[in-house]
Amino acid sequence: MRTISSTKELIAARSELKGSVGLVPTMGALHNGHLSLIKQARMQNDNVIVSIFVNPKQFLPKEDYERYPRREEADQKICTLSGVDIVFMPQSDDIYTQIEPEILAPKNLAYILEGESRPGHFDGVLRVVLKLFNLVRPTNAYFGKKDAQQLYLIQNMVKTLFLSVNIVPCDIVREADGLAMSSRNGYLTQSEKEQALALSIALKNASQAIMKGERDANKVELIMLEALKDLKVDYAKVLSRDFDPRETIVIKETILLIAAFVGKIRLIDNLWI
Ligand code: AMP
Repeated sequence: MRTISSTKELIAARSELKGSVGLVPTMGALHNGHLSLIKQARMQNDNVIVSIFVNPKQFLPKEDYERYPRREEADQKICTLSGVDIVFMPQSDDIYTQIEPEILAPKNLAYILEGESRPGHFDGVLRVVLKLFNLVRPTNAYFGKKDAQQLYLIQNMVKTLFLSVNIVPCDIVREADGLAMSSRNGYLTQSEKEQALALSIALKNASQAIMKGERDANKVELIMLEALKDLKVDYAKVLSRDFDPRETIVIKETILLIAAFVGKIRLIDNLWI
């Protein structure tokens, strides 16, 4: 496995690769969620490139950019053991320059839900992902359904900018108790981890009600809020898979989305119905 930190070196290495290339963009502190993306990429491509870059442009000024977990050595070991060919770990000043075009995510999609609490976040996400696509020219790029809105905005960017990359959505990986894996779970104390289970329980209760025949989106949102009553809830929504509000739930066309604070830590989770 090669570790590459410069964009110039990456472009040169990419041009020597034969066959298909799978890209897994991450911010590092790799866990089993990331690993499932890497494994899928390994199965479906001749070459696998994992990028590890804590992207400053997607953090708001008051967010945790500085203290976001950075575990470069452990991450490289995980990548070696997973059969990754290239780990790309650039510095910020190699990715961004002082003068460059802005990339702006579509307002109607990027300023709801995650974007309402984190205005500008998705502009930063799309900017770095577009740069990574241009550097790596991947055949396939792997993204988790955990970040459902991000996935949708990336799919929209690929479609509308006519990018030639296949986006592969990957299922959410959870702890045995149901907690969706996240690099930010490491911020939680043991008791906060227990409180955090309310998110997956809310999704489970909602899906059980839907399986029993409930189709009223408002009632399902109330079921989620009931399970989340001890947390500060940012949103608990029933939406169509293209992120439009829904009064009536349609199976295979619906997504349940939650963001809530456990202490100071903001967690997200979702379930595709
Ligand atoms: P991050 O390092 O948080 O930016 O995540 C990198 C990629 O891994 C994104 O596409 C995430 O959606 C995905 N990911 C993060 N956590 C999980 C999880 N628990 N299950 C599946 N994919 C995940």
